[in-house]
Amino acid sequence: MGLYEDLGLRTVINADATLTRLGGSLMPPEVVEAMRAASHNFVDIFELQTVVGERIAELTRNDAAYVTSGAAAGLYLATLACGLTVDPEDGLTILGRERHEVVIHRSQRNAYIPSIELAGATVIEIGDEAGASTRELADALADETLAVFYFAGHHLAQGAVPLPEVVRIAHGRGVPVVVDGAAQLPPPDNLWRFTQDLGADLAVFSGGKGLRGPQSSGLIVGRRDLIDVARAHGAPNPRRGRAMKVGKEEMLGLLAAVERYLKLDQAELSERYERMVQTVLDAVAEVPGVTGSRDWPSEAGQPIPRARVTLPAGAIAVQAALWEGNPRIAIAADGDEALLVNPETLNPGEEITVAERLVDALESQQGCSA
Ligand SMILES: *Cc1c(COP(=O)(O)O)cnc(C)c1O
Repeated sequence: MGLYEDLGLRTVINADATLTRLGGSLMPPEVVEAMRAASHNFVDIFELQTVVGERIAELTRNDAAYVTSGAAAGLYLATLACGLTVDPEDGLTILGRERHEVVIHRSQRNAYIPSIELAGATVIEIGDEAGASTRELADALADETLAVFYFAGHHLAQGAVPLPEVVRIAHGRGVPVVVDGAAQLPPPDNLWRFTQDLGADLAVFSGGKGLRGPQSSGLIVGRRDLIDVARAHGAPNPRRGRAMKVGKEEMLGLLAAVERYLKLDQAELSERYERMVQTVLDAVAEVPGVTGSRDWPSEAGQPIPRARVTLPAGAIAVQAALWEGNPRIAIAADGDEALLVNPETLNPGEEITVAERLVDALESQQGCSA
């Protein structure tokens, strides 16, 4: 306590989401302890990356796993992995021709595409905002296609070709499929579902979102041969992934986070989230002109409830008042008529502060507009 204040900064109660701009998530003691222990010794980083990868692969029921400096770095390395072949002799020499095109659904276009382009790929979009047809997917696959990237999440699936169908069509052309599941934990079984059950070749996750591992960590899981290419490019090798170095602290921190995550009682966690949402709904029920309801799923389509607070207008002003107030509180606005309170990133008890401050802000807002 106090480090941020010493720098003149205000800490934030995060009722918004696992947003990088707010610090992503908070590491539990097991993760911090693993990072601290990792910081005490030198170690062979190649060996550490291999052993941690094997351990995480086993825990997540995958053939192979590789720790990256985030899911965006995972997208970059997965692009390299699918576009290149390396000489198995030295694990470094690039063999054959590089392929250049990555196919995505236009309806799944998002802020992380530059990480794919950074690897030298051209992104080809299929379909429109509403989705795409299997025909459009099949027609987009060419000799130049290095992979189809699929962005997972309830909110991105509508109108998109279903993942198993994408896999069937792409594999028919010898093209691998990479799933971006960065924010798709929970549910925990997504760690193996995309690759083992739905047939994707690789899946990418953030270490610093639902897993609550180090902020600058991420995970690629799936086919060993592809992960070997990613590994060949990654630090400490002086190659194309060297700029996205992963430290020993992050590797052991992420391993501890995965171990912890898979032991969590998800039912108990869900109950806690439901109680937090109910606390907010009970509080706003007292405010005239405002309607509260339980919203589902979360902004990234995860199975987490939220409190939706609907008002005639002024949601953005209320959001700003909470951000400017003391303590500083982050919540999401959905246009100017709704606010969303997400329990996932709240420490137990913080929902009470959020509820009280939200009621105050809503009441002053009603006063202004009356
Ligand atoms: C957050 C996110 C990323 C980036 O994850 P980092 O771990 O912050 O690099 C990539 N893709 C999607 C869909 C995301 O939500």
